[in-house]
Amino acid sequence: MPKEYLTIDETRDMMLVVADKIIEAEPILTDADRALGDGDHGIGMERGMTAVKEALDGNEFPCVGKVFMGVGMAMMSSMGGASGAVFGTLFRSGGKALKDAESLDGAGVATFWKEGSENVMSRGGAKPGDKTMVDSLVPAAEKSAAATGSVSEALIAAAMGAVAGRDASEDMIATMGRAKTLGEKSLGKPDAGCVSVAIIAETMRDFIDS
Ligand SMILES: [Mg+2]
Repeated sequence: MPKEYLTIDETRDMMLVVADKIIEAEPILTDADRALGDGDHGIGMERGMTAVKEALDGNEFPCVGKVFMGVGMAMMSSMGGASGAVFGTLFRSGGKALKDAESLDGAGVATFWKEGSENVMSRGGAKPGDKTMVDSLVPAAEKSAAATGSVSEALIAAAMGAVAGRDASEDMIATMGRAKTLGEKSLGKPDAGCVSVAIIAETMRDFIDS
């Protein structure tokens, strides 16, 4: 069933499902980072999402933005390292941009991804094409902004963008991030940050249908 919007509690429950999916995907994320980096991404994301579950489970939030901000703060304080900073920034700044909205609609989804991706770029310094999570974030923002409809349509569009970005990252030579020193040897494998962003966006999309 397509939905026009998600309530605050539904938004929280969606992020709890996202946390479970990422924890479940730890081996996939570890392998993706091991192929091009130091292999710590899976464990870091698992740790971050375990903290997210503690921060969200059974708690009430005054607005949808505070749900995402809670995700970001839990990731930032538990993960450490570059991933903690950038994923924390994604959720904190994306949530903050939603101000005091009491539901998440299609425009809210687009705002979340746009503000999140812009702040990750300004904080981390990566731009599209550098083979970092930005390569999934920017198309998620662009596709969801173009959807301009229900929350279902926006989440479907964001997931499409994030997955396309993950796939496109395979053909990029890293100029920032985990694989920067590999040069052309980074070709043929996706960026592990994009793999995480794609799982997050796909799980948000699938939450509506579940
Ligand atoms: Mg790493």
